[in-house]
Amino acid sequence: MSRTVYVNGSYVAEQDAKISIFDRGFLFGDAIYEVTAVLNGRLVDNPGHLARLERSCGELGLVLPIRQDQLVAIQHKLIDINQLQEGSVYIQLSRGTDGDRDFHFPQPSVQATLVVFTQARKLVDNSQARNGIRVVTLDDIRWQRRDIKVVALLAACLAKQQAQSLGADDAFLVAEDGTITEGSSCNAFIIDKQGHIITRPLGRDLLHGITRRALLELADQQGIVLEERPFTREEAYQAAEAFITSATSFVWPVTHIDGHRLGDGAPGPMTRRLQQLYHAVAAGAAEPPPS
Ligand code: PLP
Repeated sequence: MSRTVYVNGSYVAEQDAKISIFDRGFLFGDAIYEVTAVLNGRLVDNPGHLARLERSCGELGLVLPIRQDQLVAIQHKLIDINQLQEGSVYIQLSRGTDGDRDFHFPQPSVQATLVVFTQARKLVDNSQARNGIRVVTLDDIRWQRRDIKVVALLAACLAKQQAQSLGADDAFLVAEDGTITEGSSCNAFIIDKQGHIITRPLGRDLLHGITRRALLELADQQGIVLEERPFTREEAYQAAEAFITSATSFVWPVTHIDGHRLGDGAPGPMTRRLQQLYHAVAAGAAEPPPS
């Protein structure tokens, strides 16, 4: 069955959705996006995702063509029409087009292109959540503003393809100084032998994950020691446990890094506990549609 999607003010069947071939998102990657998880038909941590969308807009001088409450109404309407119980809602926003290819920004009167669509996906019960994933480390070849959630995800696609060709599920990306920035589409964490969680501090070199923030709050409530500092590939090999977070994976254990087995090669106990806690919080804290 075809999905209904939202494009610039209209709800249309996905096969009828159209944007210009001169859209700057397509020509220049001049566009940003957001992804909010949907659990039991409800949005998870949506205010955080929308705040990050606003921030991305501010950093790039993009203007949302509608108010935030209208955007939330669109998210809920699509969840409803598409009967989405579990999965994601994507918001894609480009600088639009003035009908030709020109590097300079179009006149302010040109409206941004806004597309919203849903994607069904098992977030809680999936094999990666159960069994964990294997990652390889690859050079982080992305640009220097990774804190902005831009649609230019070619480096992430290349990393995922290369990881797959090496028999792994995903990649941890390594900065020039040998420290891990994050995963190709997730934040990266290790747990050392003292049971401390270590993850890179926020900066321009990684995306400020909304799931990362929720997970750290949860860990803090559990009295777990958090170390927000860069960690090296070698430190990761020696870790007792590792995991990743994102709105599309929630918490996935990492069992192997570059073929190095962590612990006994099964998802670690602290990761498992945090995963269960996160799933419970995500389900409980999910935002119902506005009445
Ligand atoms: N880092 C990168 C590069 C990502 O692409 C993502 C999600 O798409 C994340 C981290 C996790 O962010 P969030 O938890 O907000 O989904």
